[in-house]
Amino acid sequence: MHKPPGKPAITQISHDTDFLNAEWLASLSHELRNPLATIKGYTTLLMRHHGQLSSEEQYELLQSIASGSEQLSYVINMLQEIAEFEANLVPFRPHPIDASMLVHDVVMEMQRDDQPRAIADRAIQITVSELANEPEKRLILADQGLLRRLLFHLIENAHKFSPDPSPIQITITYFLPAPSNPLPEHLHADKEVLQQPLLELRIQDSGIGIPEEDLERIFERFQRVNLTLIREVNGLGLGLTLCKYIVALHHGLIWAESTLGANSTFHVLLPRHSQY
Ligand code: ADP
Repeated sequence: MHKPPGKPAITQISHDTDFLNAEWLASLSHELRNPLATIKGYTTLLMRHHGQLSSEEQYELLQSIASGSEQLSYVINMLQEIAEFEANLVPFRPHPIDASMLVHDVVMEMQRDDQPRAIADRAIQITVSELANEPEKRLILADQGLLRRLLFHLIENAHKFSPDPSPIQITITYFLPAPSNPLPEHLHADKEVLQQPLLELRIQDSGIGIPEEDLERIFERFQRVNLTLIREVNGLGLGLTLCKYIVALHHGLIWAESTLGANSTFHVLLPRHSQY
């Protein structure tokens, strides 16, 4: 991705640690080594037993090689994206967007059967509170492509971390910074975001939940929590970092609340299009 001519680079992404610290490198090599081992192992098998395997057996091995390659390119693409955000190289092209239409569109796309990460059988309920009859009030100033990435990731997480077939709830509403609607303490420094009219997107699941002490940490790079419960679930611990960067570009806020073993809710605040 290239910086668009004349556009100011983003400035609000701060780096609390060096990009290539030791812990980060250890996690990274682990994530690269696993799919690479799959590819190498099955390729060796295919070569060693060339001519002795049935075409079904060959096909199965090739499928495993393909899935290892896919995993490898997912990791590399994700790393590249994170690096581009951190180098302020991601162009930000905000336009007025109907938040409800965007959410419906993303959900429809995710639930198509032909998607590689299809969540076609999961019920996803979308509620547009108070605003249903006034489309212009659902307008946010957002970069469509980036916001789609954010929604994809949050919905996919809600699906991945909810082993039971419970529905995912998505709510689109005004955010009123009332005492009954407080920000978590770690976001108090960013309170100036609340000076503008805001729309809130809430993505709620009834899944495994997140320990309270980890609710802030999950937005940092390579942080995966609840490890005993999520061992079988694919993931890199970079998706929420990407979400945090996307929200920062929009001058919004993102946070999670959760009851361990019961549910998680991700809140995203985005500026409304100021004309309305
Ligand atoms: P990934 O999903 O690739 O592991 P993320 O950065 O998206 O990485 O999430 C980081 C961690 O936060 C996850 O590994 C998981 O432990 C936790 N997490 C994220 N979303 C949820 C959710 N909806 N329910 C429970 N845990 C979650």
